[in-house]
Amino acid sequence: MAKPVIAIVGRPNVGKSTIFNWIVGDRMAIVEDKPGITRDRLYGTGEWLGTSFNVIDTGGIELDGEDSILRSVRVQAELAIEEADVILFMVDGKAGVTPDDEEIARILFKSGKPVVLAVNKVDNIQRQELIYEFYSLGFGDPIAISGAHGLGLGDMLEAAARHFPPETEDPYGDEVIKVALIGRPNVGKSSLVNAILGEERVIVSDVAGTTRDAIDTPFEKDGQQYVLIDTAGMRKRGKVYETTEKYSVMRAMKAIERADVALIVINAEEGIIEQDKHIAGYAHEAGKASIFVVNKWDAIEKDDKSTQQFTQKIRDHFLFMPYAPVLFVSAKTKQRLNRLMPVVSEVAENHAARITTHLLNDVIMDAVAINPPPTDKGKRLRINYVTQVAVKPPTFVIFVNNPELMHFSYERYLENKIRGSFNFEGTPVRIITRKKS
Ligand code: GDP
Ligand code: GDP
Repeated sequence: MAKPVIAIVGRPNVGKSTIFNWIVGDRMAIVEDKPGITRDRLYGTGEWLGTSFNVIDTGGIELDGEDSILRSVRVQAELAIEEADVILFMVDGKAGVTPDDEEIARILFKSGKPVVLAVNKVDNIQRQELIYEFYSLGFGDPIAISGAHGLGLGDMLEAAARHFPPETEDPYGDEVIKVALIGRPNVGKSSLVNAILGEERVIVSDVAGTTRDAIDTPFEKDGQQYVLIDTAGMRKRGKVYETTEKYSVMRAMKAIERADVALIVINAEEGIIEQDKHIAGYAHEAGKASIFVVNKWDAIEKDDKSTQQFTQKIRDHFLFMPYAPVLFVSAKTKQRLNRLMPVVSEVAENHAARITTHLLNDVIMDAVAINPPPTDKGKRLRINYVTQVAVKPPTFVIFVNNPELMHFSYERYLENKIRGSFNFEGTPVRIITRKKS
């Protein structure tokens, strides 16, 4: 379920972010096209021969204060050792082995984690001899790569993929709704977990957490089984990097992957900040159902327009998620907390909903009749038929005469028509346009 993780480690300037960008490449670009989504370059998703994995650029972890390179590099190596299944240790072929490389090698070696040693900036095959001195680092055959010219990168990923752990099964059944509480530090995630589990008629099972990353709490309410994936419980272990905000985003990402429904917790007292958007953006991109949970609602002064105004603020900031319901709660007073799990259960149902091809085509053909696709240089998009190919999230393929004629705005129009006819509240939907063969 959770994807394998590759961490890129190396001293500054060896080319880590160049390689990171190459690995996550297209996916990043697609995201940046969409309004309202911003992100940092710390954590991304890549693919190798059909296997999807996560990649961390540990160089993206910045420490506060004026730390020495050596100290940051140590912290980055520590993070990689903790989080990754395989470490991509990058060095600079032009610079040769440096004392910082040797220090990193020592830390990585002690950890016993699988390490793939990549010698970057080997920009042409004739310079292959640059790699030999790196045998001294003790990680076997160094792989020559060039981020600038895209050389050797396939070999490098292949070597890394050999260390991916075997795929693990979802330890819970399909009927169990997996819920992740995500949000910045201090928004009230732990308090919400305690409040939810402390509620009447919640039966907490004593099955221990099953993964090393998260603290999972299975429970049952109104006959529905849930698992809470608690990101808050994972931190506060005193490591330097755990105090960085970016790291909390990364932890959120891991929890999101394992979840069906993401509860994006927002602090009513502080309002919405950039970091909230990163976190919500990850849930959206991962195709998870989402609910905005505005916590600490007890702590602010309110009048009869407050919820409406705050909802509008959320809509303005999270333009890419108009589908996510907004709930106002207080972990402290338990105000409206009893609404939460019923909404979770509803959006989980919508997230897993399947629409028959027949009904779907009625809706799309009506939509096309009312508002035909615009022409582009005399050519008109023709829609043949539509079918749902996946759930979680609902994914539709529209077969057309020429996919290039499908415009973003028309796709948006069709999505709205689908949403108008079927209940997809709380879930993103994906639309893929294919040429009819
Ligand atoms: P980081 O600090 O490790 O993330 O390194 P960057 O990715 O920022 O790269 C540092 C510098 O090395 C930049 O000027 C890159 O353009 C350059 N660079 C990265 N990859 C290559 C490569 O394969 N060949 C050469 N010649 N330069 C590279
Ligand atoms: P986390 O870092 O997101 O897990 O946040 P915590 O659950 O540790 O809460 C951070 C702080 O906010 C603590 O001091 C809580 O007592 C406080 N807090 C949490 N929920 C509420 C709430 O609903 N109302 C008020 N007034 N304070 C809250």
